[in-house]
Amino acid sequence: MTQRLLVVEDEDHLAAGLKLNLELEGYEVDVAGTAREASEKLVQPEGYDALVLDVMLPDLDGFELCQRLRKAGHFVPVIMLTARSSAEDRVRGLEAGADDYMVKPFSLDELLARVRSMLRRREWEAQNGEHESATLSFGQVVVDFDTHEVSVGGEPRKLTQLELDLLRYFAENAGRVVSRDELLQKVWKLRNYSQTRTVDNFLSRLRRHFEPDPKAPIHFLSVRGAGYKFLPDP
Ligand code: CA
Repeated sequence: MTQRLLVVEDEDHLAAGLKLNLELEGYEVDVAGTAREASEKLVQPEGYDALVLDVMLPDLDGFELCQRLRKAGHFVPVIMLTARSSAEDRVRGLEAGADDYMVKPFSLDELLARVRSMLRRREWEAQNGEHESATLSFGQVVVDFDTHEVSVGGEPRKLTQLELDLLRYFAENAGRVVSRDELLQKVWKLRNYSQTRTVDNFLSRLRRHFEPDPKAPIHFLSVRGAGYKFLPDP
């Protein structure tokens, strides 16, 4: 299937040049001249496989747009283009949730190579994800992440999607201390967001579901000043 890209760039000649060259590579390419137009296109049902996003836009800068997309739960791969090369901007771009970053003027070949590799990485991750073991058992608990079936001591339990996502992240990181910020980023997909109470509330919910005694947890441990640790076999 043809991969669809959205180029967000207000300078017409640059946008047209990028569109042409990406089309020559076999992609289907749309152009948006403003952040507003980009946002409108991004909610269309066809969707895009990747975004080439210029930082300098007339209405909203690319950092801000990228950050808003991530906060809204939009995880299309983003490569940012900027005229500024400072390390600070690079960090800002990556913190805003961009996957890659290029400084203008850049070589077209390099951009094409990076777009290709970004898309390949996504494909690989998607395929790899399907082959992961999708069940978890600890104590009296059995979880099937594919069917969302959860049981405790043979009794079925109903978990919300977010509870399952959180549980899965803990399972993938069993034995390691994970901070509240990391959980907000990886499970809630929120960056620079300090609602750590949210995490604590969800931990209480997991404990109520799964701990033999929620007041004296043995699986979902608090690590003072650091975060939480999941122990399947305490
Ligand atoms: Ca621009």
